[in-house]
Amino acid sequence: MGRFSWLFPLLAALLLIALRFVPLEGWMIPAAWAVPALLALMEHAADAFENIRGGRYLNNALFTCLSALLLFATGLYTEAVLLLVLTSLTGHLEKSLHDRSQENLDKVMEILPTHAVLVTDVGFERVDPAAVSVGDILLVRAGERIPLDGVVTEGISTIDTVAVSGQRSPWAVNTGYKVYSGCRNLTSDIKIRVSRPYEQSTVRKLTRLAAAATDFPSEQENTVRRFLFWYQCAALALALLLGVILPIFRGNWIVWLRRAAVLLIAARAVTECFGIPLLYRRALSTAEKLGVFSKGEDCLEAMARAETVIFDKTGTITEGRYAVTDVYPVKMSERQLLTIAATAESFSRHPIAAAIREAAGKLDERVIRAVKIRDYPGRGISAFLGSHQVYVGNAALLEEHGIKYNIPARPGTAIHVSVDERYCGYILVTDKVRRRAFDALESLRVGGVKKLVLLTGDVFSVARPIASRLNFDMLRAELKPEEKAKAVGYLMNNKGQRSTIAFVGEGENSGKIMSGADVGIAMGSLGSDAALARADVLVMDRDIFKIPKTLAISRQVYRAALVNLGVGFGTNAVIALFGALGVFSPLAAVIASAACCLLLLGNSLRIK
Ligand code: ADP
Ligand code: MG
Repeated sequence: MGRFSWLFPLLAALLLIALRFVPLEGWMIPAAWAVPALLALMEHAADAFENIRGGRYLNNALFTCLSALLLFATGLYTEAVLLLVLTSLTGHLEKSLHDRSQENLDKVMEILPTHAVLVTDVGFERVDPAAVSVGDILLVRAGERIPLDGVVTEGISTIDTVAVSGQRSPWAVNTGYKVYSGCRNLTSDIKIRVSRPYEQSTVRKLTRLAAAATDFPSEQENTVRRFLFWYQCAALALALLLGVILPIFRGNWIVWLRRAAVLLIAARAVTECFGIPLLYRRALSTAEKLGVFSKGEDCLEAMARAETVIFDKTGTITEGRYAVTDVYPVKMSERQLLTIAATAESFSRHPIAAAIREAAGKLDERVIRAVKIRDYPGRGISAFLGSHQVYVGNAALLEEHGIKYNIPARPGTAIHVSVDERYCGYILVTDKVRRRAFDALESLRVGGVKKLVLLTGDVFSVARPIASRLNFDMLRAELKPEEKAKAVGYLMNNKGQRSTIAFVGEGENSGKIMSGADVGIAMGSLGSDAALARADVLVMDRDIFKIPKTLAISRQVYRAALVNLGVGFGTNAVIALFGALGVFSPLAAVIASAACCLLLLGNSLRIK
């Protein structure tokens, strides 16, 4: 009906008031009232028709039309028009709320670049971001958004990542730093080398994901929709019984038809599925404002029901940035031990490897390159330096290869090194617990989480003090990745029926493990393909507090949906019951139904 669809019900409303002051008689009465009735009916009739054409035979609009017709036919003109007008009014209110939440969800699209500035031999060229290829050099002026993911090749600047990560403090970048599309370059011009095609860039992935989130409705919504179908079938059958079958035997058509009309008013879901989709949409955009992207409404809902939260220690509870604290060489210098380890770890992406490389400093050009590198997930690596086989990893790795090692003198994460089966000593590394980890975990408990579990591949001597200091209920340490997955599986098999298990990990390392839980939450997802692919909920930056915050949003929406259901069905039940008994007049039913609708819409405003 387009932009002016509100005009008809408005006209009908004005006529409704006017007609009450006009003295009319006989056939003039229905004729005059038919005007506002038809004006107000149009919108609902079109809506009902649209629904039926889409295969939804039982729908709110149809029930509105039917009951208005019945009311009109039985001489309740005011009630008929009032029903149509009030339903339009609340409908428009609902639609504007819906549009607003959609607008908020679409805000994320603003990070999509409109153009890129390509650096060519002859100068600069403004091009479509999709036309840029990997390896191209782009100029990003101060104040502009970075159009594609890349690496800084020239310039020093700060970039604001808030649009993609929700993180307020800007990052300093320099030559060699990775930058992500969607972030804003703040202080000075930089040049970047594009590292990924546009379709696979951070912005495209994020916006695709955000746009698809509403395609995955909550279980609450699905269940209610299924139930609503049968509820509406029953209401229709009952209305037929009351309005047609009963009067055939007992007469008194007018009374019974009016009661049937009331029943049909109560057959409506008040708003679209009791306002549940609206609630979830608002929750999605609230989370997005925090820099937390949920892949679906169902993921938020699963989070709301989480009674157990599993943390994969490194990078979630701890910062995931290791530092070497001590070096214990055997028959060589500290420097030699560090150099061997760092060379072997040259290409490893593990945070421990980064720490060892940093401690070793810049390696001599003459040092031999590591070849034939092999990863032992959760244990370490092996590599060949020339013809020498080197193992760098934890005790389990050396044991596996029958190499004797020293028991570390101090508790801590010891990384042992061997060359050609000869033990060379160990390097102690530590990782810091995040500053606000304790408070974040306590907030989870306050939010209703009953069990906190810590999983790690690290040694007990490191994990145990952390677990006890942070009040974890359960700790499993010295686990290989497949054992972590098994531990998640065990918890999944032994959980309460209605509750869910959330797994919080760093997307990069725990992607596979998190798919075993009901809901996988990845921290530090910005730039992580693994997180984008595997996690259900993406916390873009590394703020651990966003987990309890998101949990709070999800619980709030879950409860609000239950309140909506209670109030909606409750009101309908009262209207239907007392209406059928004749205690409730049609006018009262019309007003009660509209009031209930306003209440449900108002409830959704609490989610912001
Ligand atoms: P976490 O549970 O802390 O994420 P990981 O599964 O990543 O642990 O690793 C478990 C342990 O395996 C580490 O604490 C470390 O001792 C060892 N390890 C894994 N990868 C490496 C590596 N690249 N270099 C040295 N040690 C490693
Ligand atoms: Mg790990």
